[in-house]
Amino acid sequence: MASVRRDLAELSRRGLLRGAMGLAGLAALGPVFSPRLLAQALPPGDPFRLGVAAGDPYPDGFVIWTRLAPDPLAPDGGMPPHPVPVAWEVAEDPGFRSIAAAGQALARPEWAHSLHVEVQGLRPHRPYFYRFRLHGLASPTGHARTAPSATAGADFRLVTAGCQHYEHGLFTAWRHIAREEVDLVFHYGDFIYEYAGRPVGAVSAGRSTIRSHAGGETFSLAEYRTRYAQYRLDPDLAAASAAHAFAVTFDDHEVANNWTGAVGGRGEAGLEFDLRKAAAFQAWYEHMPVRRTALPQGPRITAHRRLDFGRHVALHLLDTRGARDDQPCGDGTKPPCAEVARADAQVLGPAQEAWLLDSAATRPATWQVLAQQVPMFARTFPNGAIGMDKWDGYPAARARLLHGLHSRGATNLVVLSGDVHSAYAATVAAEAEGPALACEFTASSISSEGDGSEQRRGTAALLAANPHIAFHNNRRGYALQHFTGRHCFATFRALPFVSRPGAPVEDRARFVVAAGDVALHPA
Ligand code: FE
Ligand code: CA
Repeated sequence: MASVRRDLAELSRRGLLRGAMGLAGLAALGPVFSPRLLAQALPPGDPFRLGVAAGDPYPDGFVIWTRLAPDPLAPDGGMPPHPVPVAWEVAEDPGFRSIAAAGQALARPEWAHSLHVEVQGLRPHRPYFYRFRLHGLASPTGHARTAPSATAGADFRLVTAGCQHYEHGLFTAWRHIAREEVDLVFHYGDFIYEYAGRPVGAVSAGRSTIRSHAGGETFSLAEYRTRYAQYRLDPDLAAASAAHAFAVTFDDHEVANNWTGAVGGRGEAGLEFDLRKAAAFQAWYEHMPVRRTALPQGPRITAHRRLDFGRHVALHLLDTRGARDDQPCGDGTKPPCAEVARADAQVLGPAQEAWLLDSAATRPATWQVLAQQVPMFARTFPNGAIGMDKWDGYPAARARLLHGLHSRGATNLVVLSGDVHSAYAATVAAEAEGPALACEFTASSISSEGDGSEQRRGTAALLAANPHIAFHNNRRGYALQHFTGRHCFATFRALPFVSRPGAPVEDRARFVVAAGDVALHPA
């Protein structure tokens, strides 16, 4: 344990000698932990096997995350039941010669020995490197960029990605994302899938299991923790996690398929569903680089928030699950029943909806970006069916939100989404015959539904019936957005396969939207 004290002393000495930290930096060193705490023995093994992450960048800093787990698939991660002090440092260079901020933080057993350090005092719109140190062992080095200052007219680039079913495919797309030149990764959700493990080769709904979930369906805190650990052990995901700052939300599979509000996807409700949500949210928090504002309190969590990126981008991160009405007409994809037309339909819930309208009105930005989970654009299948779990199942909520945003001056509205395991570019109208009020880019999945195909059966008919849909592709992949003061560019990247290693990444389409308009043009 002497090595931790040596590390901390070394960090303090360097900070003082270089004068890089200033008074704020010294204050950030936080409490000095007792010799008794520092002297406690830890089990052997690398405590940093789950890697590192950074998230929610502000102009002056971001969150840095890790979770100590020398035995990641054990319920306690292989950690003893006591708090463990960990040193952290943020530098301007990958060699950690120019330290910008440093300190120590306590990894507590209550949070599975995860750490969420809200680093402050950094400079805007700059790259930084970070790592944790314990017992003389260093974590992998992470990289993240701070946000531009509020007045900077900076370009902004992000990846939109999600839906990473571990059993359906390799995470090769994350390896490609790690190499992208972007400021941020928006993860819209389905970071894990809750389903029970199936044997390799087992076929379900036409998809072959190429690797297996550990354990059964996740219900308890221990089961969700193990599932997150298994996903974070994936080297491709770990590479992307270390390469960029993330802004994460959750969709359904972080809890249970198609859950909404107070109701689970199989209709479970009441205390039992609250217990499951509490376990799921706690494990989500423990494994995500989010700020304390997203700390769950039992079955409740406030995950919606805004991140600002200079003058051009206000990124509104939404939660379209927690306060949503149960899906109408018994869920599924089917022609609408009368319930779809209910006037008080809720997707965001009244509190979040009011926050969003206020947030968009009070933060003028060239582009108001709704970073959320399920498609908002209308998708009517040739037989008249709509997806009840999408905004299509809640047309009154969609119309109310779009009109509300439009009337508050949010004219350059860009919607980001995922969930449907295929890529789309489309425009969004408040009513079927109304004008387009937003454009939308739906990212395909990282791995969910396996190799896929260029088009789905029925795609041509779907596009013919929905002229506002400009693009569809059914390969795995992700979307890139590039915002400037005049344009929003979107590029769809696809992988020809995920069932074996080594897939290249290929562009499938590129669009541009001009500021002041929402029309999609090929670029
Ligand atoms: Fe999914
Ligand atoms: Ca989903």
